[in-house]
Amino acid sequence: MMSSSSESSVIDLTHPLDPSKVTIYPGDPQLICRPAATIPQDGYSVHSLSIGTHTGTHIDAPSHFIVNGASIDQIPLGALIACPAIVIDLTYKEAGSKIVWDDLAKYSSKMKEGTMLLLYTGWSTHWGTNAYMKYPYLDRNAAEKILAAGVKIVGLDTLSPDEIDGPEGYGVHETILGAGGLIVENLTNLNALLELEEENGTELLTSVVPLSLTGCDGSPVRAFGWKCATV
Ligand SMILES: [Zn+2]
Repeated sequence: MMSSSSESSVIDLTHPLDPSKVTIYPGDPQLICRPAATIPQDGYSVHSLSIGTHTGTHIDAPSHFIVNGASIDQIPLGALIACPAIVIDLTYKEAGSKIVWDDLAKYSSKMKEGTMLLLYTGWSTHWGTNAYMKYPYLDRNAAEKILAAGVKIVGLDTLSPDEIDGPEGYGVHETILGAGGLIVENLTNLNALLELEEENGTELLTSVVPLSLTGCDGSPVRAFGWKCATV
């Protein structure tokens, strides 16, 4: 049986790009979206958009941290479309705690080349508030084990896989991007994806679709997931 293509079966994993409700990484450019032309004045509507490459739900390309690493326009679209996904429930982790390999090991048999690993902490409910800034973050050693299992794309519902201003710096970014992997940050609705994962006889598929920004180190994405019947 083929997967259903009904609209209701697609789960949007993307935060709306709403300047009135967004968490920007400290030091990154502000999100500005305002009318440049309006129908009453001009006969048509156009907005002016100013955005950082790491604003909202977005992908980090290797060139975010790695000199001569691949830029976002160099990532083959096929690597980002309809990837089998694993959602790991980490909602028991506290603010500022570390996600270690022990939290992930029981899923290791599902981690393989081409799968997208999604770490569900529940932090997306804090989006746009101060509480979003202090989140569970990933241990560098766990990141190395994820990569060793063959996973190249790690997604999170937090601002970063690294702690802001933590003693380990940008260790997880450097580890994943240095291996040619990709990081997807600021995902939302992973709870809905987890519910689908728990249904029998289904496989989760996810897509994260960036803009083709020439030479850039990342891009906002539309991220979404759906289930595909396996029987
Ligand atoms: Zn980023």
